[in-house]
Amino acid sequence: MRHLRLIILLLLTPNLLSAQKIALQAKSLIDGTGKVVSNPVVVINNDKIVAVTTKANVPKDATLIDLGDFTLLPGLIDLHVHPNLTTGDYQVDHLRTSSAAKALLGLKNLQDILAAGWTTVRVAGDGDVGYANLEVRDAINKGMFTGPRIYGAGHYLSATGGGGDINFLSYEQKVIADGLVIDGPEEMRKAVRTEIKYGSDWVKLLVTGAFMSAGDNPNNVHFSAEEVKAAVDEASRRDVPVMAHAHAAEGIKLAVKAGVRTIEHGSFIDEEAMDLMIQKGTWLIPTFCVHTYFEKQPSVDPALQKSLEIGRKTKESMYTNMRLAVKKGVKFGLGSDNVGWPASYSASELAEYVSIGMTPMQAIVCATKTNAEILRKETEIGTVEPGKFADLIAVKGDPLKDISELQRVKFVMANGKIIKNER
Ligand SMILES: [Zn+2]
Repeated sequence: MRHLRLIILLLLTPNLLSAQKIALQAKSLIDGTGKVVSNPVVVINNDKIVAVTTKANVPKDATLIDLGDFTLLPGLIDLHVHPNLTTGDYQVDHLRTSSAAKALLGLKNLQDILAAGWTTVRVAGDGDVGYANLEVRDAINKGMFTGPRIYGAGHYLSATGGGGDINFLSYEQKVIADGLVIDGPEEMRKAVRTEIKYGSDWVKLLVTGAFMSAGDNPNNVHFSAEEVKAAVDEASRRDVPVMAHAHAAEGIKLAVKAGVRTIEHGSFIDEEAMDLMIQKGTWLIPTFCVHTYFEKQPSVDPALQKSLEIGRKTKESMYTNMRLAVKKGVKFGLGSDNVGWPASYSASELAEYVSIGMTPMQAIVCATKTNAEILRKETEIGTVEPGKFADLIAVKGDPLKDISELQRVKFVMANGKIIKNER
């Protein structure tokens, strides 16, 4: 009887069971602020970091986990993911996959992303008719499933004929596009209100054409200044920031002037747009990964063929532009544009940052502290400091010597819970 009572008590008090103090010991800590700490011990109480100390000061009631010669870092943050897409989507998967099936796919992709070391993501709109990615977020937040912290937009908002519209079917075919297709400031206001009503905490705009959609051109600016201003006005009155997909330089300028928080891709950025971004404090998220990943994928799909062709023609100038942007002091965040590839691939984005002139430390700060600032969550995540959520990863070697170590994350802790421990 007494045993039974104890079992019932334990079942009714899950917090008691999960209450724990852990001390993580490693060879070094890259804490996200730009500092390296040798022989650190990070003390975690439940879901929070309570101290960064040395072995001599480990609390007696803490369970010590010795990660040997591993390097500890803050959990990585990917500011551009599409968990409901697949690498074979190209704007049609939502037509053959229900929103419920998309939620299952998204949950699986998000759990893989977390296990690869990305403890927080921002969804840049998704290929789903409904709002599956936000419902998955809510289920994770309620503790029903394990997953990363999720912020972002339900859909990408596109003009008619834009990158979120379906431009390869005959006029008679009335299908629902993967993006939310809208025209004019009034429709924009309604779309923004609808997105926020169903849970988006970011608004995503396709200001210019895209690479990976059939029938439109990334050199064209699709939304007018009035439309983008209407989006920023509606979103900001609800304290929701706007991310703008923009390749063409004129589209970047229009979006920056309207007050968006981040520019996604920015491939054809010019010096005037860079100066404007510096002046307004807008962040640039170039997403190199999506180019490098698909370069290696053989496909006969027309959307991918178009993307590869533009990519081939513009790759060199894009890298030149990004090198100049780093040199001039444009602020960079980091996002991969993960569309369902093996999750560890996304960390090759940091190697790309090193290739355009950042130090490995600067690239790591972009993927941690800066990304947390962009999300306006800098008091909660992004660095390994007392008071922050215990989102930590560890790699075997030293990512300051070999940035590709971040593609081989061996240990993941999210919210104080060990998700992966491979040693
Ligand atoms: Zn994207």
